[in-house]
Amino acid sequence: MKTNFEKMFNKENMPHANIFISLDDVALSEASLCFAKLVLCEHGGNDDCIVCKKIDHLNHADVLVFPQEKDSIGVEEMLKVVEESYSLPYEGKAKVFVLKSFEKTMASAQNKLLKTLEEPPKNVYYVLCAKNEMAILPTIMSRCQKFYLPKYDDEEVMKAISDYDLSENQRKDVVGFCGGAIKLAKEYCEKENFFDIVDFCFKLFLEYKNSSKAILYAKTLYGLKEDFKLFLSIYNQIIRDVVNTKLGVLSEVKNKSRIDDYEKIGKEFSYKALSEIAAYLTEINERLIRNCNQNIIVDNFLMKILEEKTKWQ
Ligand SMILES: [Zn+2]
Repeated sequence: MKTNFEKMFNKENMPHANIFISLDDVALSEASLCFAKLVLCEHGGNDDCIVCKKIDHLNHADVLVFPQEKDSIGVEEMLKVVEESYSLPYEGKAKVFVLKSFEKTMASAQNKLLKTLEEPPKNVYYVLCAKNEMAILPTIMSRCQKFYLPKYDDEEVMKAISDYDLSENQRKDVVGFCGGAIKLAKEYCEKENFFDIVDFCFKLFLEYKNSSKAILYAKTLYGLKEDFKLFLSIYNQIIRDVVNTKLGVLSEVKNKSRIDDYEKIGKEFSYKALSEIAAYLTEINERLIRNCNQNIIVDNFLMKILEEKTKWQ
């Protein structure tokens, strides 16, 4: 896959200590491999040479990926990383360490890397991959070049999910609601009830006009259990898209295949109603974090939708 990641680096001057930040595992792994190619390939990393192929197949002896057994790097394994750093490359001119799930690495293990990161041995490069920065020691952070990985564009996501047996409209919904994250897009494709949840969100906007349907809809929402959060996320994205459609800023609309629906919803809901409901979604998320009763949350949510919709016509 051609990559946006290449543009982030200057081939002539690759930083030795790096941290890549993204919520998308696919982006983290592709960016790490891209980095390794730029360091190790003699042709600039963008041809089909044997080095690049080996890196793509995780088969290059000088690209070392950790953790190798558990889901995060422990103290012992970090000491192994440090030790390995001081031995010569096996087949190339440099070594690249890819340290995955770095946000899960305990501070004690992170500390073991500190000195090496400060003064990396010659021809040794580190790529720390993390979903967020919160659990990473400031001392580690300050020694690394920080890269926020770009999101994938619609075309790239579409290509990445081309093997799934889905209709054209379903594909467009996956692309439109995954926020440019390929890992998430694939999860949606594999999730049995993803499209039911999307359809239900639209139904709630377009067909829920009075309280007589509230009991029926509540039942569906109770039944979602832990998928209720996914429902809320999609519902929230729809609100954002509807507002942008109403404003006429179509470039900001994420799921362009739904613009007809957004226009219909925009006629039913005023700006004020949409913003009140969006604010209420934030409250709901806080309540879910505090483990409040989900069925009560659902009941209140359904009441709130009608209330705001009629109050701000
Ligand atoms: Zn190459």
